Amino acid sequence: MTKKYDVVVVGAGPAGAMAAKTAGENGLKAALVERKKDIGNMGRSCCMMLLVMNEYYFGERMGINTRDGRLNFPVNGFNIKLHGGYKDLYAYHIYAPNGHRVTLGDADHERKQENPHRIALVHDKGALVQGLVEEAARAGVDVFDGTNVTNIKKKKNGVSVITDKDTLNATFVIAADGVNSRIADNVGFNKDRELLGLFLVYGTTFSGLKGFDPNAFSQILYGMPDPAFIGISPLAGQDGFHVVAIGLDPAINLEKTMKRVMTESTFAPWFKDARVIGHHAAVEKLYSPIYEPYKDNVLLAGDACWTQEAENTGCLMAGWRAAHSVTEALLEGNISKEGVKSYLDWWKRSYCDTYNYASYVKNFILSYIMTSDDIDYFLGHFKKPFPGKLNAYTTFDVLGAELPNVLPKMAVERPTIIPKILAFNMAPINVLFADQIKAAQAILNA
Ligand SMILES: Cc1cc2nc3c(=O)[nH]c(=O)nc-3n(C[C@H](O)[C@H](O)[C@H](O)COP(=O)(O)OP(=O)(O)OC[C@H]3O[C@@H](n4cnc5c(N)ncnc54)[C@H](O)[C@@H]3O)c2cc1C
Repeated sequence: MTKKYDVVVVGAGPAGAMAAKTAGENGLKAALVERKKDIGNMGRSCCMMLLVMNEYYFGERMGINTRDGRLNFPVNGFNIKLHGGYKDLYAYHIYAPNGHRVTLGDADHERKQENPHRIALVHDKGALVQGLVEEAARAGVDVFDGTNVTNIKKKKNGVSVITDKDTLNATFVIAADGVNSRIADNVGFNKDRELLGLFLVYGTTFSGLKGFDPNAFSQILYGMPDPAFIGISPLAGQDGFHVVAIGLDPAINLEKTMKRVMTESTFAPWFKDARVIGHHAAVEKLYSPIYEPYKDNVLLAGDACWTQEAENTGCLMAGWRAAHSVTEALLEGNISKEGVKSYLDWWKRSYCDTYNYASYVKNFILSYIMTSDDIDYFLGHFKKPFPGKLNAYTTFDVLGAELPNVLPKMAVERPTIIPKILAFNMAPINVLFADQIKAAQAILNA
């Protein structure tokens, strides 16, 4: 027998878990469908930071209640329990291959303060998502784990969600099935999107890793001929770090990149006593965002409609907003795009019209423009400490503001780096990513 719901949420990441919990708490007849059997098991790489805590981000000014560990979203008007706990981040460290560190924020100073200035948190994402799903189930949501959504069909008064087990009928669907969203594809959203390449990640979780600050997000930037962005984020509930090797070139073996960092790089001594306690990975299509994530009673939420990452916090907000908007439409009997306008307006205002996705993805192309030697030289000019900042869209502007002071010297000492800096700052995104686009198209069309 097919079942009928007010809303079916697809995907139990931060966006879907939050949407399901909110829909259930609003009294909707709701279902959550997740293909993983073990919802809290995070095999897909994530540095698990909650960004950002010291400025507005996606229209929100997040705070943490240190007495009860609840994360609050005062602009949107809700808070959540951070199941699994959290750890403060006070600094962002960018390392050149030779070990030079550009420092944003003073972790040593903040650790001694009674009221430290945190720039972000790290959390246990598996525990958070699992906890939100349990809250959703307690609010009456039917949770179908281990169930894969294979297709979606528009019907006269709603949508049919076809899974590998059953068909669920709903008035609305909230598709929170992540960056490679099958639903976005099936409903036809991807036809007008620009493909910028593939985002490839090989990740390892370590205990016993020394050297990196336990209250900082650290990054090592390698250039040609072995380009990679290495991200190192501390674990929330124990000593240890997630380390991710990120690349945009499918021909590069990132497992080998990770091994090289561990055994041959300037940082190899820090890995001497490190023990591997987990592995994770990701292969993601990098698409331009979807400006209007609604079609035929389907709302997209979270990574499903952004480029690569709408961030854990942004996805929590998107899930919360999408579920409230669906509730509003049902109460009004306005089952239409107009009915869910509050969500669509929020999405445009907080994401599309405020943040340029290109400023974010550009962070990863520098490795393909400069050599590792260029990066050593370039980052070596940034010696003074900067204020703490961990906003993927604007942190590089802080370094950019220093360029007028350092470019004349660079032009004399290393003229070959000037066109690279200009290209990074000024070339259109499709020109910067031309090779990555070609490589991705070859794989996806094969
Ligand atoms: C290397 C890396 C590091 C990152 N670091 C950070 C960070 O530090 N901080 C931060 O905020 N963000 C970070 N992100 C981004 C963050 O992980 C995402 O923005 C966030 O998880 C997106 O949440 P979501 O709910 O939209 O999708 P996901 O978390 O991707 O969840 C989607 C869910 O849908 C399920 N699903 C997919 N297809 C189907 C289907 N057909 N049927 C049923 N279920 C399905 C999946 O199994 C999954 O559980 C990082 C991402 C990467 C790749």
